[in-house]
Amino acid sequence: MSQHTVTLYPSRQFKDNARSALGDTELRHSLRTAMDFLMAKRLSAFPDENELETLRTLGETIRQRCLAKLPTLLEQLEAKLTANGIQVHWAETPAEANQIIQGLIDRRNGKLAVKGKSMVSEETELNHHLEAHGVTAVESDMGEYIVQMAGEKPTHIIMPAIHKTKAQIAKLFSENIPDTPYTEDVDELIQIGRKALRHLYMKADVGISGVNFAVAETGTLCLVENEGNGRMCTTVPDMHIAITGIEKVVEKLSDVVPLYSLLTRSAIGQPITTYFNMISSPRKEGELDGPREVHLVLLDNGRSQAYADTQLRKTLQCIRCGACMNHCPVYTRIGGHAYGTTYPGPIGEIISPHLLGLENTSDLPTASSLCGACGEVCPVRIPIPEMLMRLREESQRPANEHVAHPLRGQGAGRTGKESIAWRVWKGVVGKASHYKLFGWTASHLRALTPVNQPGWTQNHVPMKPAAKTLHQLIKEREAKRS
Ligand code: SF4
Repeated sequence: MSQHTVTLYPSRQFKDNARSALGDTELRHSLRTAMDFLMAKRLSAFPDENELETLRTLGETIRQRCLAKLPTLLEQLEAKLTANGIQVHWAETPAEANQIIQGLIDRRNGKLAVKGKSMVSEETELNHHLEAHGVTAVESDMGEYIVQMAGEKPTHIIMPAIHKTKAQIAKLFSENIPDTPYTEDVDELIQIGRKALRHLYMKADVGISGVNFAVAETGTLCLVENEGNGRMCTTVPDMHIAITGIEKVVEKLSDVVPLYSLLTRSAIGQPITTYFNMISSPRKEGELDGPREVHLVLLDNGRSQAYADTQLRKTLQCIRCGACMNHCPVYTRIGGHAYGTTYPGPIGEIISPHLLGLENTSDLPTASSLCGACGEVCPVRIPIPEMLMRLREESQRPANEHVAHPLRGQGAGRTGKESIAWRVWKGVVGKASHYKLFGWTASHLRALTPVNQPGWTQNHVPMKPAAKTLHQLIKEREAKRS
């Protein structure tokens, strides 16, 4: 596997990253093509508007019911899984999750792990942790395999390598996979990747995967995928370790059906995926295959913070379909890397402040025009624009102001200059006479308006006060009428 290091962009540099992504014409072309395709696929998957809205209401209701009972459901899930022979581990932080997984692999003296797609393991940077402790972790989802080879993070939660062109992938494969000729034929590239990965499943000491839904009623881990690599990872090696966030629990098996339908149709316009795995236990007595040990690592990493606040709790309804990203005018122009976080786009803007604190992410909730497209396509009706407004508010709230559920990094977006500017503005608009005087002065001194207005004139013509105030215009109109 490639020895490149992961390209991480601290989210605090979001504005610079976004600017440089906007200047990358190849990236913009790849994104536009891919996003148009995904939007059209989603549209065709929901031909009946009424059915879509009914299903969305059902999805929202299920997720809200499950979250309302989350502590009880997690306990029930643990009890059921344990009774089924699956060992459950709790991790509060990414470091704890990585240590648990490393400990399990070390117990078997393991050196090679094959991984199915798992955004939570991206969140914990598991591969790098394992690498540093002598375990090679190889991504087996084709998109993840490509970004791992390139030393990058996924740029999209469903399509990790969507920013890459055929030529870039062909170059990567020919340079990194021994005896591989350069080809831009997509089928050939897929076959090359499959062949390179196939033997690893047999050699691997452990398979690692994510989880789409963890069913408390039955103690079942559901895994949605299209390539079959998830099934190989979870059945061929002797040990399977699944990792997921605590919010992925659902109450009943019957809850999975509508959520699965919403997930696959919203994500890639498919009625169902090629594979739907239901993992209920390790290999049983007399069975010929399957792992001998199955573990589930449940990660908190800031989710409890979102859970504590009834408005922000809605963030945890997410089923990770990626539709909000595909429809976001910001994401579709800058792609995922500019955000510098595991989860980019609208979902990243609302979940990352909980995972990383507002001190590292205060720019992200501002990366939205608030057009509302994300909320309109969200299959579980998360009111994303509302969440963004709330997070903007929290980022501006004085750090020492007492609130019931303070967010990590409260007030991180507040600057001295901005605070003064808002105080002055409050004084201006708080009294009619002040506002009138302000309007009169601004219109009379408009010739002195600076030509360079940082943060605005890079992309727009300078803002200039109107030649006449609204009061003057109204007065003039009335004078003409009389
Ligand atoms: S916020 Fe909604 S649209 Fe976005 S990934 Fe989550 S479920 Fe999908």
